[in-house]
Amino acid sequence: MVKMASEKLSLVVLKGWSDLKDKTLIEKCMEWGILKRDVMCLACAPDKCKMTLRKDSNEIDGYRWRCNNVRSKRKQKRKRCTYSKSLRTGTFFEKSKLPMWKILGFVQLWTKNVAADVISEELDISKHTVVDWGSFCREVTFDAIMNRRTKIGGPGQKVQIDVCKFGQRKYNRGRVVEGQWVFGGVDEASGEVFMTIMENRTSETLIPMIKKFIKPGTTIVSDFFKVSGCLKEEDFEHLKVSHKIDFVDTNSGANTSKIEALWSAVRSSLPRYNRKKSFAGHLSKYLFLKSCKLRKVNCLMEFCKEAGDLYNGCNNKETTTDEFEEIDDFDMI
Ligand SMILES: [Zn+2]
Repeated sequence: MVKMASEKLSLVVLKGWSDLKDKTLIEKCMEWGILKRDVMCLACAPDKCKMTLRKDSNEIDGYRWRCNNVRSKRKQKRKRCTYSKSLRTGTFFEKSKLPMWKILGFVQLWTKNVAADVISEELDISKHTVVDWGSFCREVTFDAIMNRRTKIGGPGQKVQIDVCKFGQRKYNRGRVVEGQWVFGGVDEASGEVFMTIMENRTSETLIPMIKKFIKPGTTIVSDFFKVSGCLKEEDFEHLKVSHKIDFVDTNSGANTSKIEALWSAVRSSLPRYNRKKSFAGHLSKYLFLKSCKLRKVNCLMEFCKEAGDLYNGCNNKETTTDEFEEIDDFDMI
């Protein structure tokens, strides 16, 4: 977890770091995890040979990874390895020719929900670029929230769960947006939340979700009448045995006010006309920001850590980019 920084990461500060003759901004990026500190030479592999950052005026960031390893094989002349690669290769920055401070500045404004036209103006970048970067950022939060999140609850903890349908609106171009089922939960004590998209509301879908997002030993509080629309009585029994979960019905005096409050907060934060493709991304952004607030961590620094994890391949998972087809909604990034 990245601790809240005392330094204010304004655009002026970020730009200032990039203007300095030394590699202050690059160092910050390494510290935050969005750039790797150790990069190995592919040409020298399988030998583990660390490359070094060398000044390079042809590079947008002023530096390039270079290998200087001297290889000597028997009866051969000593050879110096000339392999080099861009600082941006295989990182969140690879997709762009924008200066690094502008990309970080974008993330900074994006995490503060600054309007797209303001970002476009402040950073002097096109609206098309703003839309693209909104999508790239949602890829990062989607991976962090939907693919790699930790379970909530635990023995003695109560988690309120519910299923809810989003997006039953007429689309402004005359198409009807299909509703999107979302399964969510809130830990009553810690306020931690999870939400995930569901293809449908069947037991076959819901049971694995409960196991994925909720720790064994948790007491689940739900509106039985609603959730039992998806889970039959034997499914509750199955979960009790297989996942050691207890269920409390709202009829027994428990209430689900926290999860209901969460639904309305999510509803008001999502774009009015969202496409099914981008819905998960917008939802993940909301949950990412909420999680940073709850843990009192700096959103930009936390984002950098997550982007580093996604791009540096720390997690061996299937790619999720299919979720993120071209989006042209400029109103909500
Ligand atoms: Zn090498």
